[in-house]
Amino acid sequence: FHNGEPSEIFVSTPNEIVAFGQNHPIVQIAGPCSVENEEMIIYTALQVKAVGAKFLRGGAYKPRTSPYAFQGHGESALGLLAIARQVTGLGIVTEVMDTADLEKVASVADIIQIGARNMQNFSLLKRVGAINKPVLLKRGMSATIEEWLMAAEYILTAGNPNVILCERGIRTFDQQYTRNTLDLSAIPVLRSLTHLPIVIDPSHGTGRAEYVPAMAMAAIAAGADSLMIEVHPDPAKALSDGPQSLTPEQYGDLIQDMIGISKIF
Ligand code: PEP
Ligand code: MN
Repeated sequence: FHNGEPSEIFVSTPNEIVAFGQNHPIVQIAGPCSVENEEMIIYTALQVKAVGAKFLRGGAYKPRTSPYAFQGHGESALGLLAIARQVTGLGIVTEVMDTADLEKVASVADIIQIGARNMQNFSLLKRVGAINKPVLLKRGMSATIEEWLMAAEYILTAGNPNVILCERGIRTFDQQYTRNTLDLSAIPVLRSLTHLPIVIDPSHGTGRAEYVPAMAMAAIAAGADSLMIEVHPDPAKALSDGPQSLTPEQYGDLIQDMIGISKIF
């Protein structure tokens, strides 16, 4: 895979062109798990923007374990993301689950997310490889590094060079105290194997808001290029992933603490 220098990936947002890569500041991607309503998405976007986020994340189509759980507001949520994008100038990161929705998602997203559960959905990978839009490829919860990189190859070889890898925790034997085990060793391993930029998602990686700051800081220390963190104005009331979501205040405090250990924000 590796042919020399780490890649830089440039992503256009309404406000600016944001670069992911070793010689660029850490890119903050933050926002709720799901887009719930206009007020919460705009509020959260403004709050994370105020502390340096360049991208707002938020799911319109949600891959939930239970079919009875909230599935996301779908197309109307994409509309709310478009409004948030226009109001704040932030780039949008949102997930596509189905090739049938790709065009709609791509019309709003500045970066298309492929979720952990779809990491080996090869028809979806080929389709996002065939469009001209950066892709954030999450590691499958039971995927080896090799499988993950091969999934990335599906996108790259379909013609899309703008792939960003996102570690979001893997399944291990202990699921009592953390939701997943955040594999921070993936950072140096990927560095040696691939030129692609690396995002760490400590929110899904731990499943618990109180553990997110330590793992975010560890990710920076280990050399991650970007962090994706779930932020919700009222985590106790979130429609998905409340227990792992930071409040905007907690997020701001975390960014302050990270600026303390790193010059690269
Ligand atoms: C998410 O980002 O909200 C999400 C569903 O992530 P994952 O695919 O990593 O579970
Ligand atoms: Mn989530």
